[in-house]
Amino acid sequence: MTGASRGVAPRSGDRVLLVEDEASISEPFSQALAREGFQPVVAATVAEARTMLEQHEPAIVLLDLMLPDGDGRELARELSTTSQVPIIMLTARGSEIDRVVGLELGADDYVVKPFAAAEVIARIRAVLRRSRQREPADTLTAGDVTVDVAARQAWLAERELSLTRKEFDLLARLARSAGHVVTREDLMSDVWDENWFGSTKTLDVHITALRRKLGEDPATPRHIQTVRGVGFRFAHSSRRPEP
Ligand code: CA
Repeated sequence: MTGASRGVAPRSGDRVLLVEDEASISEPFSQALAREGFQPVVAATVAEARTMLEQHEPAIVLLDLMLPDGDGRELARELSTTSQVPIIMLTARGSEIDRVVGLELGADDYVVKPFAAAEVIARIRAVLRRSRQREPADTLTAGDVTVDVAARQAWLAERELSLTRKEFDLLARLARSAGHVVTREDLMSDVWDENWFGSTKTLDVHITALRRKLGEDPATPRHIQTVRGVGFRFAHSSRRPEP
């Protein structure tokens, strides 16, 4: 698994992969990034972005939606299932539905063009800080689920779970408060963004995916229980039914 290492403080010199085909945007913006102490690398196509992701292992990816050889959303979907790298989507479209779709694909934040470099750099810092401070290094155990926060691995009994970054963050957040309800608002702010104000459909989509990976019966989930009108509770003990 690639992706940013999980120090506690933001580090200078973080490599930022900017995937953007318009030089009139990428050139001044990468200069601004360099002035602020980041190491920008620019890809103008999806294919270049794939190569650079492997070669440079960026700390964060800024991703344009419309690229000459493909759709940035596809790349976001791919990245969110294969790596832990945070993503900020850059788009000319600002409707709520695009926001929601972007975040469902695993993006951490969303910027609408035209944007001010200073604003995006502030967002980059916030996303990096959040992804590094999200969890202290430790292992959580709740019932037959084990979450190694530092290694970002999770197991159901002996079986390692294959989770996307957001699914992992959700599971870790719920397991940390095992036995207690965690409100929808707290989950959204802890796993996505403290300034989140949009639809929380994203949360339900991720909860559904996580339950499926935990092998839950949707009617009577053993691990992630819905507390109607409030949020979710990770069951303290998740014993299997007696034979
Ligand atoms: Ca474009």
